[in-house]
Amino acid sequence: MHEFTTEVEELAKAVMEYSLARLKSDPPLDGPRSEADLYSELGNTITAGGLGGKKTLDIFTETLALACISTDHPRNLAFIPSAPSEYSNLFDLVVGASSLYGGSWQEGAGAVFAENQALKWLIDIAGLPNTAGGVFVQGGTMGNLSALVVARDQARKTHPDTQRWVIACSAESHSSITSAAHVMDVDVLKIETNEELRLDGAHVARAIDELHATTNNRVFAIVGTAGSTNLGIVDDLASLARCAKERNIWFHVDGAYGLAGLCAPSVRHLYKGVEDADSFIVDPHKWLFAPFDACALVYRYPHLAKETHTQHASYLETLHDDSWSPSDYAIHLTRRVRGLPFWFSLAAHGTNAYSQAVEEGIRLAKESAKRIAAHPNLELVREPELSIVAFTRKGWSPSQYQEWSDALLEKQIGFIPPSKHAGESILRFAFVNPWTSMDDVQMILDTL
Ligand SMILES: *Cc1c(COP(=O)(O)O)cnc(C)c1O
Repeated sequence: MHEFTTEVEELAKAVMEYSLARLKSDPPLDGPRSEADLYSELGNTITAGGLGGKKTLDIFTETLALACISTDHPRNLAFIPSAPSEYSNLFDLVVGASSLYGGSWQEGAGAVFAENQALKWLIDIAGLPNTAGGVFVQGGTMGNLSALVVARDQARKTHPDTQRWVIACSAESHSSITSAAHVMDVDVLKIETNEELRLDGAHVARAIDELHATTNNRVFAIVGTAGSTNLGIVDDLASLARCAKERNIWFHVDGAYGLAGLCAPSVRHLYKGVEDADSFIVDPHKWLFAPFDACALVYRYPHLAKETHTQHASYLETLHDDSWSPSDYAIHLTRRVRGLPFWFSLAAHGTNAYSQAVEEGIRLAKESAKRIAAHPNLELVREPELSIVAFTRKGWSPSQYQEWSDALLEKQIGFIPPSKHAGESILRFAFVNPWTSMDDVQMILDTL
């Protein structure tokens, strides 16, 4: 019989107490420490006899956790941070306690059913047909790679004599596209954006037609970015979709950060054309208030993904019936039901709360842009489109940007590492946390 000792019970209480305290209080910012420093404090934590649950938990709560930057601190506006809702974080504890297997319908039916309903909401707001479907994978990088592999398999059917396969995307597209190309041993055609910094169909058509006319290489996928990571710009998806359709090329939309805006009425128009995507991704761990790590990967025709990704082995054949097994739709087999924290929070709060929380990020960006434009030392790079505001500090060298950023973290005010745009250093605020206030923004602006 399963034995629940007093020691485990005590530990469970300590874990709950810590988790509750973390959820109740303002998140600490904290920051990294050197490995030598951590080692001098902790030494080896892996021992023959074990340290016991309580002591090991103390090591985490008193030392290790404090050597990590909290992604949900209201003045952590770095990269794309993350601000999971309390409900999604709490339900992650339930997922952890439940030992669920999310690879197959047979083992995970109830959990997969719920994940699929959360995916269905994304499919609906993107305007893809009812027959679309997908899976939650680890992150946008895995989502993009899994979709692009399916795209290439389709292109191989119609153009078997192709010499090199090519992905067409913009120079602003995410680094994970280049990474996917490297894994797949294909080339990347980086195409210039238009004067609004969007990739559009006209530029892409010209570049692709020239490549196809002059080489035996072929573009198998056009990738549109729906919310670039650096500036939050949405490509002209409608013209990209048309360009792809006219050439019988797969159209993938990378919306890891920005497709969350589909649920925000004020920016919904920017995504026109996403409904024609063959596949898209959006990370609930970025701007949909879910904990790491969850990327929703969706296909217009899921059976094509199944052809590519289903693994075959004697011990797996028992699983191959008509039921929906998440392992069939990406490069993975065993998987945690990582979409469940997102599902729980979405189901519990309702979709209106999501629209409001995403609108809040957009509002913060607009309001910050106004204050930046009025600030004597700062200059906006561009009016924000979604929830990212980029700006420069007049007269600063790249090293001054870095020094300011280091000092901001050192003083535990905020975390804002510099980036670059058009060869120049910039600062950027990425708002995904509904608990960030304009007072938080002002506190940072006052240091500039
Ligand atoms: C963050 C991001 C990715 C990569 O997602 P991960 O979850 O970090 O792997 C891909 N594309 C875009 C546009 C992103 O912003």
